[in-house]
Amino acid sequence: MTRGFYVTTPIYYINGNPHIGHAYTTIVADVLARTARTRGDAFFLTGTDEHGQKVADAAKAAGLDPQTWCDRLVPKWKQLFASFHVEYDDFIRTTEPRHERLVQRVFERLRENGDVYRGVYEGWYCSNDETFWLESKLIEGRCPNPECRREVEWLSEESWFFRLSKYNQPLLEHFRTHPNWVRPRSAYNEMMSMLEEGLEDFSISRAAFDWGIPIPGGGGVIYVWFDALLNYITALGWSEDDARFRRYWPATVQLIGKEIARFHTIIWPAILWSLGEKAPDLVFAHGWITLDGQKIGKSLGNAVDPETLVQRFGADAIRYFLLREGHFGSDFSYSEAKIAQRYNDELGNDLGNLVRRTLTMLARYRNGLVPQPGETRFGERFTELPKRVEEAIFNLQFRDALEEIWELVSALNREIDERKPWVLAKAGDEAALDALLYDLCEGIRWLAVMLAPFMPQKAGEIWEQLGLRTGLHGSWEQTLVWGGLGAQTQTAPSETPLFPRLEIAVA
Ligand SMILES: [Zn+2]
Repeated sequence: MTRGFYVTTPIYYINGNPHIGHAYTTIVADVLARTARTRGDAFFLTGTDEHGQKVADAAKAAGLDPQTWCDRLVPKWKQLFASFHVEYDDFIRTTEPRHERLVQRVFERLRENGDVYRGVYEGWYCSNDETFWLESKLIEGRCPNPECRREVEWLSEESWFFRLSKYNQPLLEHFRTHPNWVRPRSAYNEMMSMLEEGLEDFSISRAAFDWGIPIPGGGGVIYVWFDALLNYITALGWSEDDARFRRYWPATVQLIGKEIARFHTIIWPAILWSLGEKAPDLVFAHGWITLDGQKIGKSLGNAVDPETLVQRFGADAIRYFLLREGHFGSDFSYSEAKIAQRYNDELGNDLGNLVRRTLTMLARYRNGLVPQPGETRFGERFTELPKRVEEAIFNLQFRDALEEIWELVSALNREIDERKPWVLAKAGDEAALDALLYDLCEGIRWLAVMLAPFMPQKAGEIWEQLGLRTGLHGSWEQTLVWGGLGAQTQTAPSETPLFPRLEIAVA
């Protein structure tokens, strides 16, 4: 059986409202999933991480019980993803029975095979990060997480441990033999040095609070990270729906933020191996979106309401900006002025104008009907383009993919400027004008197909303006053959520009 493409986002911790960083990761997964679907079977999972002390605290502060709190927040997250045109295949909540019962089953399996054992935990604990820290890692006695730096507390309790140390050597081996399984390189190197320093077993149960999945047989709840990581396989029905699980596991790409690389590339594969399952093919740690050099997040108080951005620029323009602005894997800075500039220049002037100019000329000279193709000046030149774009996307080089696509945008615009269809029309050179108009329309058709994963709504609008109904999301190999646009197709140009010009506020 061929394996389907499986992409996951981290499940989001719902101790507050979503911000642009959450939208970013989810949009990236959406672009991958949409592209993968043009080639066949794909599955895109996102969801929410609902257990743990911080959620319990946030609920308490709001005067709610944790479940009610989560039930009220989840629709906000789903709404956000919908407003960015994100089409996931499944949204898992860690409070769902389908997840909880399988987490308990994993716990029992590992207890049976000896990788989960009873011990006494004593150590420094940061309740904000829900993480135990070695004394040597503390900075001036405080939490070493640069985003936190809160006071840690000394905990001493009976606990269940996961035998992570047993996987130290296999992990080193895996990292050495799969040098690209963790990307970017900076994340790989950081994890490698943690492995070289040595791993210790860690506690996976909590007795101090009860907002979590109960440990089978009693004795507290399961550590929230142990619970959360398992969502990637519980959503597939691990141990219950074997056909489905084998179809998608191991995951093709697991997207994460770089701050949670340790959980996903050290602890996660160890748990999987303990279950006899494989590690994911690729874990990719993306960078942070910064605003004036500061990471955007709730704790910094500079969270930008993503819905406001959607209202101002439109969802597709934000999707475009987020994937075009930075190299995926690196930090990049964001500002409304930067978005407005790319919006006006690249989307409005380059792409929007190309569509508008072409369809206006087609209406003027050919009653809006696509002419017969003539001698093409583009077909051969761009034959390899879809392959290059696809490769860049699956290599998570989204910026490169968009730059490749823009080569065609620019080439088509240059063709209009240099060959001047209005001059051909005036000179009565009908064959040359037909050939030129056909190439322009066909080029725009190609653009719509390749842009569809990035800007699904705008690509759909372009498709409709070309007078096309089906096929936008089909296989690139079949759809992107130069000459695929039928002669005599009646185009339907819109009165409204694709990207109406914005007045740029100087920031
Ligand atoms: Zn902390």
